[in-house]
Amino acid sequence: MLRRNFLTQLMAAGAMSKFAASPLAAQTESSRSNIFLERPATGQPHKGKVLLALQAHSDDIPLSAAGTVAKLIEEGYTGYLVRATNDDMGDAPGLGTPGTIGENALHNERDNEEIARILGCKRTFNLNYNNHRMADISLNELISRLILIIRLVKADTVVCWDPWAHDEENPDHYMLARGVEAACWMAGRSHDYEEQLAAGLSPHAVADKYYFARRPEITRVVDISAQIDKKVEANRANSAKGPAGHLGSRLRADLAKKGQRLAVLGNGDDLSADRNYIKEFGMRRNRELGAKYGVEYAEAFHYLAPGSAGAGTDPVVEDYVRQHAAPVK
Ligand SMILES: [Zn+2]
Repeated sequence: MLRRNFLTQLMAAGAMSKFAASPLAAQTESSRSNIFLERPATGQPHKGKVLLALQAHSDDIPLSAAGTVAKLIEEGYTGYLVRATNDDMGDAPGLGTPGTIGENALHNERDNEEIARILGCKRTFNLNYNNHRMADISLNELISRLILIIRLVKADTVVCWDPWAHDEENPDHYMLARGVEAACWMAGRSHDYEEQLAAGLSPHAVADKYYFARRPEITRVVDISAQIDKKVEANRANSAKGPAGHLGSRLRADLAKKGQRLAVLGNGDDLSADRNYIKEFGMRRNRELGAKYGVEYAEAFHYLAPGSAGAGTDPVVEDYVRQHAAPVK
């Protein structure tokens, strides 16, 4: 079955394919005790810091972490959006069938630029590996490219797929995640890729990581209530591949032909119907997660704090030094 027809049938059935698979799996009550709720910050405490949001495809960050990326940028981070593939397996809009490789790549590239703009990113980097073909690319090449970007922008924090997550079936997701995990550490070493240092870059390790996943090991929940409209817009901008783009206005038109309407889609224009549809159905899991933590909307992450990972740092030693180091007399 053609994907577009398949989506249309799902839409008519009131079901969502990608939204249903959105990586915000329910967290059991028993495992919530060690989860930190990241609330909105006052002012811009992250001013001067750099955020690298990395996705394999144009819909990864919009579906999984757009609220958090927008929040961190609003709170002072300078943001960059990295896309690992060229999305040439993603649909092109308005064609009725999956587009050609070139059409898909072009539409998704344009969508991705718009998503970066909506989230407040300074620029994008497109690595342009072929969609769904990252399984056998050179991991060392990927790592070296990511190290270059980390050193170039001096990234302090990354948002990406979790390299250690369960249930992940997309090779682009886990290959990018593995590359990011290694690059975050190696970028800080003066002996790795010394030619980059000779070219003028400096060693720069990433301090902390927000990892998202289909079935995440949740250690941090981020309150994105204030950023939910930006998340809706990021998903609406994902018109080629994303599941949300114009489904609201299409559903409203389909129902109108049968003399029916849905109050949730509003009485206004197609734009309102599209936005309302995304918020109601696409953000449902964000709403359900938020309700568990007493906020309106939330996103879930496996968060690695500064000093919690990476060779060369030993939390036990660091803690011992903090407690026992004395001034030299
Ligand atoms: Zn993806």
